[in-house]
Amino acid sequence: MEKAILVLNAGSSSLKFSVFEVPDSGEMRARAVGQVEGLGTAPRLKVKDGDGQRVADVRWETTEVANHAQALDAIATLLRSRFEGQVLAGVGHRVVHGGADHSAPLLITAPVMEKLDTFVPLAPLHQPHNLAAIRALQQARPDLPQVACFDTAFHRSQEMVAQLYGLPYEYYERGIRRYGFHGLSYEYIAATLPSVAPEIAGGRVVVAHLGSGASMCAMHHGRSVGSSMGFTALDGLMMGTRPGNMDPGIVLYLLQQEGLSAKQIEDLLYKRSGLLGLSGIGNDMRVLEASDAPRARLAIDHFVYRISRELGGLAAVLGGVDALVFTAGIGENSAHIRQLVCRQAQWLGLELDADANERGDTRISRVGSRMSAWVVPTNEELMIARHTRALLGL
Ligand code: AMP
Repeated sequence: MEKAILVLNAGSSSLKFSVFEVPDSGEMRARAVGQVEGLGTAPRLKVKDGDGQRVADVRWETTEVANHAQALDAIATLLRSRFEGQVLAGVGHRVVHGGADHSAPLLITAPVMEKLDTFVPLAPLHQPHNLAAIRALQQARPDLPQVACFDTAFHRSQEMVAQLYGLPYEYYERGIRRYGFHGLSYEYIAATLPSVAPEIAGGRVVVAHLGSGASMCAMHHGRSVGSSMGFTALDGLMMGTRPGNMDPGIVLYLLQQEGLSAKQIEDLLYKRSGLLGLSGIGNDMRVLEASDAPRARLAIDHFVYRISRELGGLAAVLGGVDALVFTAGIGENSAHIRQLVCRQAQWLGLELDADANERGDTRISRVGSRMSAWVVPTNEELMIARHTRALLGL
């Protein structure tokens, strides 16, 4: 019987999943990709097959599918009917926080779950949902091996000096340090560069993961040496709805002078800022690019400005940059943003090939450009599936 791996990414109101077929040898292929969204409000299951064709679109009443356990149940029913001849051999989870020590995925056991629970205060908006999905599966299928893959793990190669904040040292020991996120995406890119761009894989590379969440990572020899995200996924670049790096004095001002509660500030910083807050129009880059509104333009300009500043900082960390790699929704699809970023990087020796950029070629810099630029699609789900396969020996 064919084996399959299920990959899960549980958010507060959604449960994303992919099913990978595990061949006897060679790379795995996604056979189904989907999500249950609108948990708690208007639940809906959408599924596509490995070629992107829609295979299911189901809506329920709010109470019919109200939590992760019920969402998993709905997904399991659908998958059983579609993949009769396959046996589920393991499940890989995206877990946002692996703490200061975990630099690799872990097989889930009771002590591991206890440990992962201690990271909930570090990522209260994500970690509880990740762990809820693991627990729901433990209940439903106690026999099934599960693997936790951490978004923080890839950055554990960073020197201590890069992980510090300038707070009293005991805060570092208490866990207030730069963890970095989007690690599964960066790890996938690092693993892919030797085949798609061998000339830069061992060099000094800055990867720009520009999606609804956005960050940048400085890599040397395929290892993380610096990242724009820090203690939480609020730091660094401006994002779809998050402001990115800002003066912490602003938070004090909002608390002390404007009387906002911690909850209101959390809402402001996670949901109402960034491209959405600046443009007043939306957080989708496609919508902003198509708009003539001056504030849409301003939001795009600020997005690019922040990327350029961060690139300068990471270039300094690396002592120079050989290549810039674009990935994720905006990085992979927006020739306009890539062009604006590359124009700002001319001082580093980057010469864009405008036609290659418009076509979305893998290499988008001119031959002979001192610093090169690339577009490499990311695949965090495949990275999780690979880890799960390796850890379970499948
Ligand atoms: P991700 O979080 O990686 O899925 O990226 C999602 C974001 O990518 C969306 O919010 C869009 O802003 C952006 N995006 C996707 N396609 C395009 C495109 N063709 N042009 C510009 N932005 C895009």
